[in-house]
Amino acid sequence: MSTTDIPYTTVKTIAPVKAFLARTHKLLINGDWVPSSSGETFEVENPSDGTKLCDVAKGNAQDVDRAVKAARAAFDHGPWRTMSGRERGKLLYKVAELVETYADEFAQLESLDNGKPVGVAKAADVALTAEHFRYYAGWADKLEGETIPVAPPYSGARYLNYTVREPVGVVGQIIPWNFPLLMAAWKLGAALCSGCTVILKPAEQTPLTALRLAEVFVEAGFPEGVVNVITGYGEPGAALANHPDVDKVAFTGSTEVGHEIVKASAGNLKRVTIELGGKSPNIVFADSDLETAAAGAFNAIFFNHGQCCCAGSRLYVQGKAYDEVVERVADMTRNIRLGPGMATETQMGPLVSAEQKARVSGYVDAGQAQGGKAQFGSELPGGDLEGGHFVRPTVFTDVKHDHKVVQEEIFGPVVCPMPFEDVEELAREANDSIYGLAAGIWTKDIGKAHRLAELIRAGTVWINCYNMFDAASPFGGFKQSGYGREMGHHALDNYLETKSIWVEM
Ligand code: NAD
Repeated sequence: MSTTDIPYTTVKTIAPVKAFLARTHKLLINGDWVPSSSGETFEVENPSDGTKLCDVAKGNAQDVDRAVKAARAAFDHGPWRTMSGRERGKLLYKVAELVETYADEFAQLESLDNGKPVGVAKAADVALTAEHFRYYAGWADKLEGETIPVAPPYSGARYLNYTVREPVGVVGQIIPWNFPLLMAAWKLGAALCSGCTVILKPAEQTPLTALRLAEVFVEAGFPEGVVNVITGYGEPGAALANHPDVDKVAFTGSTEVGHEIVKASAGNLKRVTIELGGKSPNIVFADSDLETAAAGAFNAIFFNHGQCCCAGSRLYVQGKAYDEVVERVADMTRNIRLGPGMATETQMGPLVSAEQKARVSGYVDAGQAQGGKAQFGSELPGGDLEGGHFVRPTVFTDVKHDHKVVQEEIFGPVVCPMPFEDVEELAREANDSIYGLAAGIWTKDIGKAHRLAELIRAGTVWINCYNMFDAASPFGGFKQSGYGREMGHHALDNYLETKSIWVEM
């Protein structure tokens, strides 16, 4: 009996989710839910079966302009700026609590909209989101400046010099579809903690949890205009990047669009942070616990169906361990259970869209055309799920460093194992990428692990683990993986200006 013949147990959609999906969703501007100025909407699809989930307002540049005006008024004249950090923190704390209260609702919406298993959505995406808001709630009353000893050589007077940290202002935040709720939290937590006002632009594929989160902000009592949400395609994103009254834009998404954002920001020299793609090396030494390392390598690439910017897509295995590690990873891959996000048996859901499926399949074809040997895992679910965007997870052996599947970000469940012998040579090859987001190292020799971690040009290095995240730990890229850091106190730097104040005494 093949795994596709085993019936799925579908989680019952809870009443609030049904009610949410029964509505056509509007834009949140200045505390009001309003239609797009064009009156247009677009359909949100369930990637597990291709059915329509609901309609959502299709925001445009004019809507962005309205939202920027609201955010500007809220920043310049609203209670947000004069509110103490402690009061801001209390509001953020309330958001964390409400996210936990509505955890099942958020998890189901995320699973339906993105395709990820509902259990994973609840345990990872929703739980990390609540933690994230709680972490930044704690920072809101701790944004301290410094006193600096000064003595200008051309003055005999004495001075008190101190710094204060002030919010950057109106912020546009543009996010992708792979972790829709969590990416919204990463962006909003630090910005709101710092006292900025925000226009959030969710990805067109997955706007639902950002809209539900916007309802939570209203319920928590955030002043009008502090959080605005504009759903839509690329147009409102580009409008935010171009807008002369947006002080800062924070973007997570593809490297191509990242380039556009940076160019667009030049108009008013707005501050920019960009979190982009990756092609992360995951390195297994022969002296590691091979069973654990193989399981880690499997998780590093296949978590979230390979749709992770930090996915361990280049798997380097030291010579004599290569066959065993690849065989173990291939075995686990063959047994992954594909299925709809809302089924309890599902280990891997569909990709987010038909476009993404075509893109990943195109890479698999290109890899084979260049001589790579594809070992496919699982079987595609049939029946009612034939309309879903499923791809078979793939282990690509016999690939070379210059192959397309090794060089380019696939953003899907495709891993390329490659053998290595010499550590210096390996470090050179691992770093020979336009990206530098993350890396993994598996070894029992901790000195070797630290030495290699030093050599790797990436924003995060995981040793004997992978895909570990915490609101307190910074995450971001070297090279074309972007600049600026999300999370930790480091993310606050993105949203704060430092003002130096001099007093003659
Ligand atoms: P994308 O760049 O196509 O879209 C991201 C967002 O930008 C969406 O909201 C989209 O509507 C908007 N957008 C599209 N065109 C725009 C334009 N011209 N101007 C402004 N905004 C525009 O990316 P995607 O396909 O949704 O996401 C996948 C990419 O995101 C991958 O490359 C992945 O590596 C990257 N990513 C990076 C991180 C990180 O932290 N580094 C995290 C998640 C995803």
